[in-house]
Amino acid sequence: MSETVLSVKGLRTYFDTNEGLVRAVDDISFDIHKGEIFSLVGESGCGKSITALSLLRLVPPPGSIISGEILLNGTNLLRLPEEGMRKLRGRKIAMIFQEPMTALNPVMTIGNQIAEVILHHFSETKKVAHQRTLALLDQVGIPDPEHRYFEYPHQMSGGMKQRVMIAMALAGEPDILIADEPTTALDVTIQAQILDLLRALQKARGMAILFITHDLGVVSETADKVAVMYAGQIVEQANRHSFFANPLHPYSKKLFDSLPYKSKRGSQLTMIRGAVPSLLGPFTGCRFANRCDWAWEICAPVAPKWIKEPVTTAAGEEGGVRCHLYDTEPIVNSLAPTGPTWEHGEEEHDTRLSLPFKGRQGGDGVHSPSSPKPPLLQVSALTVHFPIYQGLFRSVAGFVKA
Ligand code: SF4
Repeated sequence: MSETVLSVKGLRTYFDTNEGLVRAVDDISFDIHKGEIFSLVGESGCGKSITALSLLRLVPPPGSIISGEILLNGTNLLRLPEEGMRKLRGRKIAMIFQEPMTALNPVMTIGNQIAEVILHHFSETKKVAHQRTLALLDQVGIPDPEHRYFEYPHQMSGGMKQRVMIAMALAGEPDILIADEPTTALDVTIQAQILDLLRALQKARGMAILFITHDLGVVSETADKVAVMYAGQIVEQANRHSFFANPLHPYSKKLFDSLPYKSKRGSQLTMIRGAVPSLLGPFTGCRFANRCDWAWEICAPVAPKWIKEPVTTAAGEEGGVRCHLYDTEPIVNSLAPTGPTWEHGEEEHDTRLSLPFKGRQGGDGVHSPSSPKPPLLQVSALTVHFPIYQGLFRSVAGFVKA
């Protein structure tokens, strides 16, 4: 296994609000290795972005990191003085954001913004910083870097601005790059280009990437490892292949069920009923219990523990799941329900676990999935094309079929 670049252990970040303590990140642990793309996936409000800000120690007030360790190449960032953190941010650990316009300085040319990072972190002359900036602009696919160096952010398209953000993040030659929903604000064509670019840069530089997204399609194309976050906790972790072949946690399965597979054309998509619970106040049982079709008596009063490698997976895989269904402790097992099996993609899948989950068929009472509800929104045969104009008379030369 390659060396560990980032190791997060028992991280808790809480917000002390007038309404009470909001447990935005509540005891999460994961490792990211050199050259690895680690994807943190989940719905909005589940704590992904606060995790990213915690790693950089940039949690806004009234939030603060309550406990845990963040080891970057073995150095615990939570023990460093602020001065030491300033030297690391942008140098050893860098971040790109969802909306580049809010992260770029509107009154500085994009070239100077990138050169400033180089001058801040390396003892280089302005001339060298200028040359390295041109090379970075070229690497991230910005045409005519000599000319565009002197442009301001408002003169660039969304995709170009995101490329500038990536160049800025790379300028410090970081060991790990945090990408927080970097393609969400972009249209699908540009999104694909930015993902290709990130993958190519990651391979060329051997850099690790923490990729934060709500989009399983993006995860399937980028990640080596996947962690699913729900209500401030990681509820499942696996390598990409295992995760996509057979997700374990009921929440992960529901995420897959709500994807528009080809085979589901003409039929209703599954919704995950309810919403992520409020993170105010302490939790007693499973945080997914009020949305889970497989919940039984033990789920509401008893919090499920993290079960490491609950099934036979590839040697060395750092997988796990937080769910009573995979707990073989007698107290949990004796109360195991007979719940439904589920469908994932085109075929029905069994779980990777033999007990107690496997083979539980057609249960009734509290464990039965709710009957399908009428759709909230239906879309059929929607087509959106953007014209491409060319020439002096701006005639239409083709279409981007978004
Ligand atoms: Fe569902 Fe219970 Fe597992 Fe929570 S612990 S995900 S409620 S089965």
